[in-house]
Amino acid sequence: MSSWTSVLQQIAELDPRDFDPADLADEQLRETMPLTQVAINRLSAVLTRCVAAGGDRQVHAADGMGTMKTWLTAHCRLSGAEATALVRAACRLPSMPELQAAYAAGAVGSAHVQMVTAAVTPARIAAAADAGIDLATTDQVLTEAARVLGPEDTAKAARRWVAGVDPDGLLDDSAGLPRVLRMASSSGGPVYLTRHLDPVGGETVHAALEAVMNGYRPADDRRSHAERQGDALVELCRQALAGGSLPTVRGERAQVRVSMDLQALSAERGFAELPFAGPITAETARRLACDASVVRIVTGPSGLPLDVGREQRTASAGIRRAIEVRDVHCVFAGCRAPAAWCDVHHVIHWAFGGVTSRDNGALLCERHHTAVHEGRFSIARAPGTAVWHTFRPDGTEILIRGKSP
Ligand SMILES: [Zn+2]
Ligand SMILES: [Zn+2]
Repeated sequence: MSSWTSVLQQIAELDPRDFDPADLADEQLRETMPLTQVAINRLSAVLTRCVAAGGDRQVHAADGMGTMKTWLTAHCRLSGAEATALVRAACRLPSMPELQAAYAAGAVGSAHVQMVTAAVTPARIAAAADAGIDLATTDQVLTEAARVLGPEDTAKAARRWVAGVDPDGLLDDSAGLPRVLRMASSSGGPVYLTRHLDPVGGETVHAALEAVMNGYRPADDRRSHAERQGDALVELCRQALAGGSLPTVRGERAQVRVSMDLQALSAERGFAELPFAGPITAETARRLACDASVVRIVTGPSGLPLDVGREQRTASAGIRRAIEVRDVHCVFAGCRAPAAWCDVHHVIHWAFGGVTSRDNGALLCERHHTAVHEGRFSIARAPGTAVWHTFRPDGTEILIRGKSP
């Protein structure tokens, strides 16, 4: 047994529970993390070399597997995508000795190696040679990039190399890419999105989200970048729906629809139903109904509709304008989200007898409309003024420093 095999055996038998990070000082912890990553990189390099040798000798055949990839998915329990990337790296790495050496030294990780080996195909190596770029130079340039950059920027460097040697190839890589978006509602509440886009489609979505994200950012915003992107996507769609320029659906304007029992609408508890996302609480339904048109369907004991009526609970253009002139932006303490992003909130909800009027209306951005309905914050306007006060659920007022209440 070679010494490497026995070392691997020992590492595989190490129990991470015997290692207590609490025993390490902060400085040691900061040293341990990159050290561990170097060790992982070196072990990944060992695995890649084993896969290369195993593939050459067709060792998978003895286990009844047709390819090294299927053997890896079965015996190492890798995903299909992981096994494909590993086999590709194993096959192409020997032709890039600099990258192979950096991997063996732990200086680059498996993500770096996968990005480079996916881009440097045999056809492109040939195209580069025709253009007078030899593989040794490519190896040197991309390895240098991988040594100093993260995997994402290494991928960009690899794509620049592809663009240089094989512009049509770059086109091939991106032109045929389908744009895929899947949405699935779940019993737990969240709606899951999975998607991938071609570079131009992705850039388009990114530019639109960026515009919404930069359009307004409240002071003291602690949302992560991912949370801000999520909010921006919803805001973009809200504005598209409100703008009324989307195609109609079965003769009606595209909009968010909520179905709810009339009694539940004014009840403390209860739930309503969104056709796609599923059940929501009564309070969330009241928020959605706060600035909405309402279709009342009276059903008989058999559940069949007896009467259908329409009521407008959206502020009319005149009322909305008057409220916008008075409030200018979201009235929640410290928020200055522009009027165009705001709902007209009924201070006393219409389900509880509140009227749709300038006096009973207030501009609230989606976030703070949610805070007021579901979060139990409240807002009140000093009578006869345009001055709003915001109160926490415990009744204390939120005061903005440097501004008199
Ligand atoms: Zn409201
Ligand atoms: Zn706001």
